[in-house]
Amino acid sequence: MSAPATTPVPAHVPQLPAGTPLAWRDGQLHLEDVPLHTLAREHGTPLFVYSQAAILGAARAWQDAFKGRDALVCYAVKANASLAILRLLAAAGCGFDIVSGGELERVLAAGAQPGRIVFSGVGKTHAEMRRALQAGIACFNVESLAELDELSAVASECGVAAPIAIRVNPDVDARTHPYISTGLRGNKFGIAHAEARAAYRHAATLPWVRVVGIDCHIGSQITESAPYAEALERVLDLAEAIEADGTALAHIDLGGGLGIDYAGEAPPAPAALWGELFARLDARGFGARRLIVEPGRSIVGNAGVCLTQVLRLKAGEAKNFCIVDAAMSELPRPALYQSWHRIVPLNEPPVGSTPPVWDVVGPICESGDWLGRDRPLAVQPGEFLAALGAGAYCMSMASRYNSRPLPAEVLVDGSHARLIRRREAPQDAWQHELS
Ligand SMILES: *Cc1c(COP(=O)(O)O)cnc(C)c1O
Repeated sequence: MSAPATTPVPAHVPQLPAGTPLAWRDGQLHLEDVPLHTLAREHGTPLFVYSQAAILGAARAWQDAFKGRDALVCYAVKANASLAILRLLAAAGCGFDIVSGGELERVLAAGAQPGRIVFSGVGKTHAEMRRALQAGIACFNVESLAELDELSAVASECGVAAPIAIRVNPDVDARTHPYISTGLRGNKFGIAHAEARAAYRHAATLPWVRVVGIDCHIGSQITESAPYAEALERVLDLAEAIEADGTALAHIDLGGGLGIDYAGEAPPAPAALWGELFARLDARGFGARRLIVEPGRSIVGNAGVCLTQVLRLKAGEAKNFCIVDAAMSELPRPALYQSWHRIVPLNEPPVGSTPPVWDVVGPICESGDWLGRDRPLAVQPGEFLAALGAGAYCMSMASRYNSRPLPAEVLVDGSHARLIRRREAPQDAWQHELS
């Protein structure tokens, strides 16, 4: 990326996140070297645009954090499952953390090596187990005793021993939104810390199960290292006990969950986080153990934006509404978790302006369909806005609610922009319907 010819940005415009592929140049918001308004005009809106350099840079930051160690970075596919992005990450040497048979087919289609795939999730079906066994994945992250027994039975039918880790619930508070906190006692995920040792003893008796590791994943959008340090200590306590019982653990999987800067959060970089965790691993004699991590959001989140066009402005009795053509169908995080995305105009507003304050809302017939509240924006109908931090858990969660066709996606590499998903036509959405 060339040095941006930056101009002063008015104080009401949100600051761009640290390390972003976005920059103001000549009064236009660019992603890498592409002015975003040209993409909005060419492809229409709502439109997702991703930076290839940002995705690969974030993946490399994870890989570099493990330099000189035995480690595998398994990108969590559910954050963004677009084939072109999976292909980039597979070619960069990433493995994948999948949570469904659909994700398994996607990563295989994208060129993933089966030996670099781990399979998480509380509800794996027998058909999904069979397919993953036949593909030869690296590890099933088993989330209950019932799943362990069923997997053993399926593996015996297939004649392929199932490599497994048990996902243990370390009962650690990740201090994040309750819907994305997964390592607490009340969560549906994993096997309780107190029952994990017995579960491993049981696994050791199953002839079609081969224990290869131990796993945990404590939540998402975690912005400090302390919950990871706590979880690691709890997992190592268990690992010591399990190995004392005679079961060797070839790897330790600490899951994903590292947060990103949506609104000024400053999560540790992967190298800083793992510097701290390696000190603990080394001190307890686990420093040479194979490590697996499952980052999703921290690889794609701030690599992507969602472009949207202002349809009209509506002054309400209590609030002003800026109605845009993106909605909770493309940007579900505000509706789901009351989360905050920066919303910025693609044309830089004049310095010194004090614009009115708007609730930015979509066209969907739900009061929960808002993208941002109380945002000072100098906008007119027809102008474009970008919702930042839209690379993770947006397109992968997109729906067709209100019969809205799924949006298009573009991948930017320097000054080159490539369409990686065509916008759906309304009739694409009903092609499997029988009337
Ligand atoms: C969602 C998920 C991840 C990825 O979480 P991020 O917050 O996107 O890094 C990793 N592992 C498991 C098991 C998950 O469910």
